[in-house]
Amino acid sequence: MPQAIKLSEKYDEIYFALGIHPYDIEQYDEKILEKYISHSKCIAVGECGLDYFRLPKNENEKIKNIQKQKEVFISQINFAKKVKKPLIIHIREASMDAKKILEDYEAKEVGGVLHCYNADENLLSLSNHNFYFGIGGVVTFKNAKKLLAVLNKIPKDKLLIETDAPYLTPHPFRGKRNEPLYTKYIVEKISQILNLDSNEIESLTSKNAYKLFKQFSTKI
Ligand SMILES: [Zn+2]
Repeated sequence: MPQAIKLSEKYDEIYFALGIHPYDIEQYDEKILEKYISHSKCIAVGECGLDYFRLPKNENEKIKNIQKQKEVFISQINFAKKVKKPLIIHIREASMDAKKILEDYEAKEVGGVLHCYNADENLLSLSNHNFYFGIGGVVTFKNAKKLLAVLNKIPKDKLLIETDAPYLTPHPFRGKRNEPLYTKYIVEKISQILNLDSNEIESLTSKNAYKLFKQFSTKI
């Protein structure tokens, strides 16, 4: 049984998501999703999505890889709709294709989170389609100008905080293993930029997270 499921059974406050990341598309098997998705601690489908950052160099291989990524992503969107669980979406250098797929396949029925939101303004309109924007440690980095500039354009009721552990640890712990504890540095940075009290950011992002993941579950 996958490790995440064991942890979720051992600790009340741990839940898990089930999905295939674009780097692992060759392992995609809907039967495995079927097997665990109805577990009472499974609250989302993901990470799934598109990642064009590490594509094969060979042109034919590249086209095939992109095609396969799209198929696996679409299959997981359809699956999420079937089981009525929200999506956790990974998008890297593939904003326009990912957005088109989310719209064409009516992903708004279940919604989800654009995890590690890449600051692409083209994706902001997804906030009208039941999508939330996950902000991680990157927001505290010196080179995060693009993300800082776009923060106030994200509707407050669609803002989420995330770890993406073990990487992307916020400043001043950048380079160390990331921990949920460090999300407070993300909250502090966002509160400075949005000129809101950090308690307010904490409570609104918690409320948003409950809303997103609770909408299809009575277990949270
Ligand atoms: Zn990711």
